[in-house]
Amino acid sequence: MKSKNNIKPHCHVCMEEFMMGVDVVMDGTFKGIIHADCNYLPPDEIEDRGKFEDVVMRNQRWFNQFNHVIMH
Ligand SMILES: [Zn+2]
Repeated sequence: MKSKNNIKPHCHVCMEEFMMGVDVVMDGTFKGIIHADCNYLPPDEIEDRGKFEDVVMRNQRWFNQFNHVIMH
């Protein structure tokens, strides 16, 4: 993948960009976000869940790391 400055957060399972209002879950181990529909995590590894924008707001501190997680 090419490096770009404006990398949009996307689901690392289906690779689709997150849209406002979609249901997502946050991985408690890797601090990544995936769609609730793409979720493969056991419940005790889900750190947060809800609408994408709500999860982002609640977990803002992780989002500097988030691109590294999804971009490897
Ligand atoms: Zn997905």
